[in-house]
Parts: sequence; C-alpha cells; structure tokens
Amino acid sequence: MNIQQLIDDIARDVRPYLGQAAPAAYIPALAGEDPQQFAIAVATLDGHCHASGDSDTRFSIQSISKAFMLARVLEVYGDSLWSRVNKEPSGNPFNSLVQLEYEQGIPRNPFINAGALVVSDIALSQLGDCSTALREFLREESGAADIDFDQHIADSEAEHGHRNAALAHFMKSCGNLHNPVDSVLSHYFRACSLRMNVMELARAGLFLANHGRSPVSGEQRLTRSQAKQINAIMLTCGTYDAAGEFAYRVGLPCKSGVGGGILAILPGRMSIAVWSPGLDARGNSLAGLEALDRFTTRSGQSVF
Ligand code: GLU
Repeated sequence: MNIQQLIDDIARDVRPYLGQAAPAAYIPALAGEDPQQFAIAVATLDGHCHASGDSDTRFSIQSISKAFMLARVLEVYGDSLWSRVNKEPSGNPFNSLVQLEYEQGIPRNPFINAGALVVSDIALSQLGDCSTALREFLREESGAADIDFDQHIADSEAEHGHRNAALAHFMKSCGNLHNPVDSVLSHYFRACSLRMNVMELARAGLFLANHGRSPVSGEQRLTRSQAKQINAIMLTCGTYDAAGEFAYRVGLPCKSGVGGGILAILPGRMSIAVWSPGLDARGNSLAGLEALDRFTTRSGQSVF
C-alpha cells in the first residue's frame, strides 16, 4: 500500500466537507479556529510517519487526552479503576448529567466527561501533578519536547465549565472524587488544552498499536492485555454517542476531541491521526470521520 499517495488523495477528496461544519462554540477559545484546516498523519510500527495537509499545525487535543490519561492510570493503578468507573457505552452526550444520578455517581465509561474526571482524580492521587505528568508522557512518546498546554484554552474552559463542575460536584457528593473538585477540574482542563499536531499525535498513539510497547521511547507502557482493553473502550466509547457509526464506517478504535482531532489505532500495524476543527452534531470532526472512513475503505485495513 502506498500510504503517502492514499492520504494525499484523501486530503484532496475531503475538501468539500471543510467549512460545512463549525468548530466547538461552548469553549470560546476554540470557536475561532479556521474550519478550512485539515491534516492527516499515519505512523507505522516500522518507524515511518506520513503526513498530508496542515500537518505542522498544532491543535488542542481535548478529549483525546482521555485515552492517554487512562493509559497512565491503568499502568499505575490497574484494575482497581473499574470499581469507580464502568466500561459501557453511554448512548448519551459526553457531558450529560442525567445518567450519572441514576447510576449513583459511577460514570458509564472513562471517555465521557464524568468518567474522565474520575480518571483524573485517581491520576492526581497516584501521580501528583498529573497534567504535567501527562505532558511529559506525550513529549516522550511523540519525540517532541516542546509540546505544551494552552493556558488560554484551559482558562476559557474553566470560565465556562459549569457542566463539568456540576458533574464533579455531584460525584464528590457520592464519594467518587477523593481530591478537591477545583484541583481535579484544573488538571482535567489543562490535560484537554495540550496542543499537538497530527504527526505528534500519531506517534504518541503507537504504543496502543504495538500491544503496549512504545517503538518511540522503547518503554513497555502497558501490558498487552491493557493495550487491548484501551483499544476496546476506544472502539465502543471513544467517539461520543457516534461509536456505532464509527465502528460501522471506520472499523478502528478511535478517540475524538472537540478540538477536531481523532486518533485511530490499527493494532499491530499503525496509528492514524486526523484533524479538522468543524464538528458534526455529535461533536466529532466532520472531515475527520470522512477521512478515516476513506482510509480504511480504500486500504482494506480495519480490525474487522
Ligand atoms: N474539555 C472538553 C470538555 O470537557 C472536552 C470535550 C471533548 O473533547 O470531548 O467539555
């Protein structure tokens, strides 16, 4: 397969979708992103990285950070995590409050906001300054030592983050957050604000494609079984309430973020990152989904 040719073709073919959808507006600092931007990168286990489009431009990874924070917490805390958060698709929007009350403050999965707040709480207890620990992890795994937070975005989210604050306070009242709500929220917002480009993101995801061992840093980050578990949760819960649509059209474990990025994993082969800021009605990058669909359809590669 000629990956470069394939992704150049895809970058050309998704152009009609650019500008058809708007960037996230509920975080004002993201709303001004130019929706005409698009990038795709493919990092393979044999050390190659192919890219097309605006692949040098960094963007806010937002919820893609949840996959990496989950990896860190599984590594240091293991299966005890699953007494505080479940692993079932929610079928509800990522910031929904209703289900959490029915289910006594135990979030459906680690990728909805409530679940990610619990994971951040555990990370705070286990790692201390967990957003900085995540930044260091991503610097090592991408090979880019200057990856950093975007404090303007973190502050913008904190200022408008009433739903996340509500989720956190509710879980605190149920005894499912152990640290002060403000600290959990501030580390969560900082982790979401990290800026990376598609090549850095694809490289950072390679340990998930390589059964837990990073070909970039050489570190065994997770056991083979834990890498499988994260990929399974990405497939079933990684793209908000469109996980069924993604499994059907793309057929890969994916984690999306409202910054317009999507990380997709082809276990044993490669990691793919796409980015375009315009979001569809369920909060996934419109052109990103189109691009991943074309990638797996034209290459014939998926987990199925
Ligand atoms: N920081 C965003 C929030 O909490 C992340 C949402 C997302 O990317 O899914 O709303």
